[in-house]
Amino acid sequence: MQAMVLNAIGAALEWTELPDRHPGPGEIRVNVTACGVCRTDLHVVDGELPYPQLPIVPGHEIVGRIDALGAGVEGLSIGERVGIPWLGHTCGICPYCRAQHENLCDRPIFTGYTRDGGFATATIADARFAFPLGGAGSDVSLAPLLCAGLIGWRSLVIAGDAHKLGLYGFGAAAHILAQVAAWQGRSVFAFTRPGDSSTQKFARDLGAKWAGGSNELPPEQLDAAIIFAVVGDLVPLALKAVHKGGRVVCAGIHMSDIPGFPYKLLWEERQLVSVANLTRQDGLDFLRLAPQIGIVTKANRYKLTEANQALADLRAGVFEGAAVLVP
Ligand SMILES: [Zn+2]
Ligand SMILES: [Zn+2]
Repeated sequence: MQAMVLNAIGAALEWTELPDRHPGPGEIRVNVTACGVCRTDLHVVDGELPYPQLPIVPGHEIVGRIDALGAGVEGLSIGERVGIPWLGHTCGICPYCRAQHENLCDRPIFTGYTRDGGFATATIADARFAFPLGGAGSDVSLAPLLCAGLIGWRSLVIAGDAHKLGLYGFGAAAHILAQVAAWQGRSVFAFTRPGDSSTQKFARDLGAKWAGGSNELPPEQLDAAIIFAVVGDLVPLALKAVHKGGRVVCAGIHMSDIPGFPYKLLWEERQLVSVANLTRQDGLDFLRLAPQIGIVTKANRYKLTEANQALADLRAGVFEGAAVLVP
């Protein structure tokens, strides 16, 4: 198998020939056919997440077909198309796992961060954490659903029954979530980098009622806002945009420091919460709904060998929607 490997924090990924791996008990081997590129991959490369495990193959929006089953795997078969998300394994016995909060597990394994991921021609996964994807939709279009879509979905659930919903940062996650929210009958207000009129148009084309710069207040007060951008300065701006009792959800795994702000922005029962990881139930719920919604992902295709270019383009905000690597 071949993979794009991160050998040192901040280094470019290196095309590497690796010995074929064999699935252990409870594991599957998957021939990767598409793998999305997520903002979290940049955090891994940049060393912004604790305890990096190196060398590592990044990538946690994996679509592929099973080509080997480990002992004891049930309910999956050779040739079946599956998706492999960020949450790669949980301990099952810590207080969080036992309380149905496996997203907060004390001893988790994360795909592409603490176990090799999908910037590769093949990968190994814990069978219990792989999602059967059925036959609908292309591999490339499904890949961004596995993190951008899933984390967006969990954020939306945590935002509650907000009708007027703000989305700060209109990248891979928001472009999927805007379609989900519009389908649910919500009004989406999209916030982009100030002056980014092409992304604002992209948001309106996907059903946003209003789109403007993150330095602007929306024309109506919001019920809730989700922050996908990695910019801590957005937190007080989003609190200012929601009405009394409104909720601001931080969806990213890493964010720059949040600046000090007057207490009155939080006062009147506004809430500030974060979303961490996903549960398997989030995945099942969202992937069941996705075909009904008819989500159209804007996937910008790169060859696997172009992973460094895809990461650079993501960092620079070169494309709309998501980047997907194809071996
Ligand atoms: Zn646990
Ligand atoms: Zn991700």
